[in-house]
Amino acid sequence: MIVIPEHLVERLFTAEAAFEAVEAVFAAMSRREAENFPVVRDMIGHADAVYGIKSGFDRAGLALGLKAGGYWPGNAEKGLTNHQSAVLLFDADTGRPSAIVSGNHLTAMRTAAASAVSIRYLARPDARVLGMVGAGHQAAFQMRAALRQRHFEKVVGWNLHPEMLPGLAAVAQAEGVAFEAVELDRLGAEADVIITITSSFAPILLAEHVKPGTHIAAMGTDTRGKQELDPGLVAAASVFTDEVAQSISIGECQHAVAAGLVLAEDIGEIGAVVTGAAAGRRSLEEITLFDGTGVALQDLAGAAKVVELARDAGPLVSVDL
Ligand code: NAD
Repeated sequence: MIVIPEHLVERLFTAEAAFEAVEAVFAAMSRREAENFPVVRDMIGHADAVYGIKSGFDRAGLALGLKAGGYWPGNAEKGLTNHQSAVLLFDADTGRPSAIVSGNHLTAMRTAAASAVSIRYLARPDARVLGMVGAGHQAAFQMRAALRQRHFEKVVGWNLHPEMLPGLAAVAQAEGVAFEAVELDRLGAEADVIITITSSFAPILLAEHVKPGTHIAAMGTDTRGKQELDPGLVAAASVFTDEVAQSISIGECQHAVAAGLVLAEDIGEIGAVVTGAAAGRRSLEEITLFDGTGVALQDLAGAAKVVELARDAGPLVSVDL
């Protein structure tokens, strides 16, 4: 079994590698060649931590395994990232553990790649202004991946905690793009693509904020009860997701479905747009929404890609179990 530490994942798992892995696995999911297994996720009654296991199998890419980890809110004080995880891969032919891959950078990159895939397939080709709602750990990854998808000239950002926005502005500056902190109504009026990536439990972005033709990647809601969008906005959009079952239970669509505003059968899979089995954006005026809930297969595809790149890169740490 090989062991791939965090620093090697950071070096090898580029935005291109993440995009390629996530795009391919979304397509495999849509062809029913890849399946996510039921998620286990709960408070553990210690250190206020939430711990979970996500697993699945991609028969096309032969990625079999699980990601285990969660959220430890006290970690920041210890100089550690609050989100901690690792991916364990198994040989699909023998069931033997084949690799353990550190999951922190991997998670941020695969999550950013998911919204980037949605932008590539669903945003208007002439999108020029990116709106960022959220300025935490994931936001910088999201913004960097999004900026690669269109000729964005400017980023407008809003965050509940405005003191966090200069950090995001610095990332935009490093990417060579102008950044402006704005109120939500201006963000919606200017942005052609909006990414929401917060820990919110109440709607932030409302239907009246958003102009026709906008693409929204709603990435923060990955748990029951979390919410970033007004259900009326979800109902007004053409909705796509990574996995419908997660979208309606733990994703952004949980609220619009519960309110009877959206039906599960109205939600499209982004993978079907990738394969060409389903249409994406139908007009320049429609609002498209990607509900990115985060599936195990993104982690497994990403980890498998890292293993492939690590084998090419040179000597590996190997252990006999
Ligand atoms: P973080 O703790 O670094 O940042 C949290 C962000 O949410 C900050 O912008 C903060 O200002 C904002 N925020 C906090 N409480 C809020 C509230 N009550 N209302 C509105 N905004 C609030 O977290 P992060 O690592 O950047 O993750 C952001 C979110 O993304 C989390 O909810 C996390 O669970 C989710 N996430 C989703 C996926 C996925 O695949 N969809 C993957 C990783 C993380």
